[in-house]
Amino acid sequence: MAVKGMLRKCTSCGAYTLKQDACPLCGGWLKIPHPAKFSPHDRYSRFRLALKGIGAEQKEE
Ligand SMILES: [Zn+2]
Repeated sequence: MAVKGMLRKCTSCGAYTLKQDACPLCGGWLKIPHPAKFSPHDRYSRFRLALKGIGAEQKEE
């Protein structure tokens, strides 16, 4: 079975490839097409920001 995250996308021509080093079509730079937008770290950072905001408001009162 193919492992998720192996697929790369060329930043030059937009082609998808399983190559790790360079695009087989144009030799362009490869990037993982799905950045960790919804990673646990991001959720925690958002939660922390929310808590900080609440804490600041309470201190002012
Ligand atoms: Zn390419």
